[in-house]
Amino acid sequence: MNKNNKIRVRFAPSPTGHLHIGGARTALFNYLFARHNNGVFILRIEDTDRSRSTEEYIEAIIEGMKWLKLDWDEGPYRQTDRFDIYRSYVERLLNEGKAYRCYCTPEELEQRRQEALAQGKTPKYDGRCRNITEPMPADKPSAIRFKMPQEGRTVVNDLIKGVVEFENSQLEDLIIMRSDGTPTYNFVVVVDDIDMEITHIIRGDDHLNNTPKQIHIYKAFGWDPPAFGHLPMILGADKTRLSKRHGATSVMAYKDMGYLPDALVNYLVRLGWSYGDQEVFTREELIKYFSLENIGKSAAVFNPEKLLWLNSQYIIKEDAKNLAEMVIPFLIKEGIISEGQKLDMEWLSKAVNSLKERVRTLVELANSLKYYILEYVEIDPRAKEKFLKPENIKYLSELKELLSGLSDFTAREIEKVFHAFAEKHGIKLGAIAQPVRVAITGGTASPGLFEVLEIVGKEKVLKRLAKVIEGG
Ligand code: GLU
Repeated sequence: MNKNNKIRVRFAPSPTGHLHIGGARTALFNYLFARHNNGVFILRIEDTDRSRSTEEYIEAIIEGMKWLKLDWDEGPYRQTDRFDIYRSYVERLLNEGKAYRCYCTPEELEQRRQEALAQGKTPKYDGRCRNITEPMPADKPSAIRFKMPQEGRTVVNDLIKGVVEFENSQLEDLIIMRSDGTPTYNFVVVVDDIDMEITHIIRGDDHLNNTPKQIHIYKAFGWDPPAFGHLPMILGADKTRLSKRHGATSVMAYKDMGYLPDALVNYLVRLGWSYGDQEVFTREELIKYFSLENIGKSAAVFNPEKLLWLNSQYIIKEDAKNLAEMVIPFLIKEGIISEGQKLDMEWLSKAVNSLKERVRTLVELANSLKYYILEYVEIDPRAKEKFLKPENIKYLSELKELLSGLSDFTAREIEKVFHAFAEKHGIKLGAIAQPVRVAITGGTASPGLFEVLEIVGKEKVLKRLAKVIEGG
């Protein structure tokens, strides 16, 4: 533990792609672990692989973290800003005889690799430069290798996986600095985790095989390795590793599809972690209940239906005013309003409120809002055939006159008109309500009709009825 006795964790993405579901879950677990323990959550961008890392992906990862409200306390640090630190750590190992210069050329290494493969052996650096005693020309290119122990076993007491053992004979002398002076991945991770006084490493189990190598590097620096917790994989429905084949994997794609960030967070946390049977958690509850002990050992399966269900729950819970703000970009994207078009937000909140329980995403909400916002609606031909028959049109004409005389165009008053009308003609309310619903919303399903008519407003209601009556 560091001098302040504080738990310090990090999320350390490589910016070689967008923030994806798996990365976001790792970030979330680190964030929750830090918040639960009053610790520190660090964001570190692992961009040493310059050929694959881009500024655009760094920004995309940060954007994703912000959208999910996974706020970090330190960083973002960037490994490419820290080369001097890595060099000084390399020097230390060289001076202490824990690392050595390797003069083997890439061609020689490749040739030996091929030979090993041809003999059916697992290729491994044979350590031939470990014991060079004669002086070498200063300008001869060399990489720097770390002396891995070759005997015994390394035991990882993983907080999630339990005890995992590795044979040291399987480990090779790792290159920690290439001949061009750039440090390598497994080395910089350890240097950063030492330098940033990381106490717990929570990451995907694709890194488990790196752990024994990293443990020896910690030890070489006289540092107690942090605690490790390797998260089981996330699988698609077909039990193969989650990938684009299973649908969108980028976090921001879920934003575009109309998911609420809190719903996605709630979904992600349940990919591996559980707390009794509870499914829906507030952020405060997640922070309060989170623990590594409750992370399962087996892989989690990504279930888009469940995510959709959770999203609908979050939409129901969300304040209509907030939803009204959130839905604006979707109304623009769906072409329902134009950019810069002003809507009365109080009115929109009312419209949103009527639909909250009927939609699962903000995209669905935007599309359902169509019949509130547009002047006219497109009428579903099947509904038209069934409900806008000539005898119904006659009713609609009469009803239109009654509604146009209504000065207080509220659900209550509208309802009275409908009841009186049905009574007068000796028909059921539904016999007139459904044709009106079709004329006003274009379809046969909507929230309560009188509420819908009030929100659509008198002017548009009359216009749409007129159009239907005229046969439009
Ligand atoms: N940069 C690594 C990755 O994106 C994570 C390394 C670590 O967490 O130790 O997979």
